[in-house]
Amino acid sequence: WIEAELAELSAEEAEREPDSGPLPVVAVVGRPNVGKSTLVNRIIGRREAVVEDVPGVTRDRVTYEATWRGRRFTLVDTGGWDPDATGMALRIAEQAQIAAELADVILFVVDASVGVTDSDEAVGAVLRRAGKPVVLAANKVDNQQMELEASGLWSLGLGEPRPVSALHGRASGDLLDVVLDALPETPPQTFGERRGPRRIALLGKPNVGKSSLLNKVAGEERVLVDPMAGTTRDPVDELVELGGTTYRFIDTAGIRRRDRELKGADFYAAMRTRAALERAEVAVVLIDASDVLTEQDLRIIGLVIESGRAMVVAFNKWDLVDEDRRYYLEKEIDRQLVRTPWALRVNISAKTGRHVEKLAPAIERALESWGTRVPTARLNQFLTELVQATPPPVRGGRQPKILFATQASTEPPKFVLFTSAFLEETYRRFIERRIREEFGFAGSPIDVTMKIRE
Ligand code: GDP
Ligand code: GDP
Repeated sequence: WIEAELAELSAEEAEREPDSGPLPVVAVVGRPNVGKSTLVNRIIGRREAVVEDVPGVTRDRVTYEATWRGRRFTLVDTGGWDPDATGMALRIAEQAQIAAELADVILFVVDASVGVTDSDEAVGAVLRRAGKPVVLAANKVDNQQMELEASGLWSLGLGEPRPVSALHGRASGDLLDVVLDALPETPPQTFGERRGPRRIALLGKPNVGKSSLLNKVAGEERVLVDPMAGTTRDPVDELVELGGTTYRFIDTAGIRRRDRELKGADFYAAMRTRAALERAEVAVVLIDASDVLTEQDLRIIGLVIESGRAMVVAFNKWDLVDEDRRYYLEKEIDRQLVRTPWALRVNISAKTGRHVEKLAPAIERALESWGTRVPTARLNQFLTELVQATPPPVRGGRQPKILFATQASTEPPKFVLFTSAFLEETYRRFIERRIREEFGFAGSPIDVTMKIRE
């Protein structure tokens, strides 16, 4: 049983070759109920259905990794962005606008059984101007008789409608072939070779000091750079040198785009944050140390947790904090970051430059943890001793056993425990904590799941 599971894990891991840089992004757009989520589920298959147990992680994932004919890409489900019920059509058009900005290819889903609606028209208008490849999916074409209805979608002016049934899978392979053809070429790459500088998402609520920090560390030499080789996004990143190493700061253009963000601040902010995280390896979250921790700060941290990226929390504006308040502030911060005790912390001032030099080592440390692999033999030896010293609690008169454990992946590190019975959550947390203590992982999330023999 374990061997079969392991074979599956290693096949997944082989497919998921790490360090290959950010994947091209396919965004699925369309009005509600046209079948976006159904299509996304069909494309990613059931591989997402792993039992995950990360506290506080929101379930409304919107980005997924997908593979078709050996090519990997990121799939963004804008259905998960959930526009407000008010001003629906406008919101959907705005979603489409953002999707168009962050994606390499847009998969526009229309319900062929209904035909083109006003909302579809609005989205179509946005996409026609977007200058990105658009694949038009005519969904709910469940049988051949309905194919005729798909042809009505030519009127959107977005090229050939591709009939598909997300629900039954009809022609979904053909649709994916078209999507694949529209993806930008990715340059060939040697296995394991890192593509370019490490990638940082600089996050934080408005006015927390993101631009100030970039200006401080990069000075006048800030250069906007092209997106990843092989993608078609507009230049939105910046190369910045920190402590002698060059990093790619993802979507710094978004930091400047205030006017846009004012219209639907939370909406855009969350979306940009998610998109930036998707392309980043580590997040630097700025928090205003002179102010209380807000809901917005916690939401950003939540998005980082959800993304599985490494994290450094930088408390900025430290110059505004009184000497005698500092001690209490530290305690307060510990309390507030209780969900992410593993995040690395630095206290800085983007204005005065205080301790800004501590950022780079923290980022490096977090990235190292994120990529750490614990050898299987060491892991099992450690767990054997741990379980002997502190056995899992007996449940229904039975003593659960950990039969075998392995680290299934890095970036982020994921561990799988093969067990004879269900392990209580508190016990799994205990194991997670001890793995952290034993093997480091400062600055990186880790994930511990179990597979129970049925
Ligand atoms: P979303 O809001 O765009 O994400 O739409 P959903 O994926 O939630 O689908 C909305 C409804 O349409 C659900 O009841 C689906 O079962 C149904 N649906 C989705 N795809 C198809 C399809 O290809 N054919 C038919 N007949 N129904 C579909
Ligand atoms: P952004 O919206 O996150 O890019 O924030 P900005 O970099 O535009 O900064 C917002 C305001 O906070 C500006 O007035 C900055 O001068 C100020 N600010 C940024 N960092 C610091 C800091 O470390 N100390 C102090 N006192 N002010 C800061």
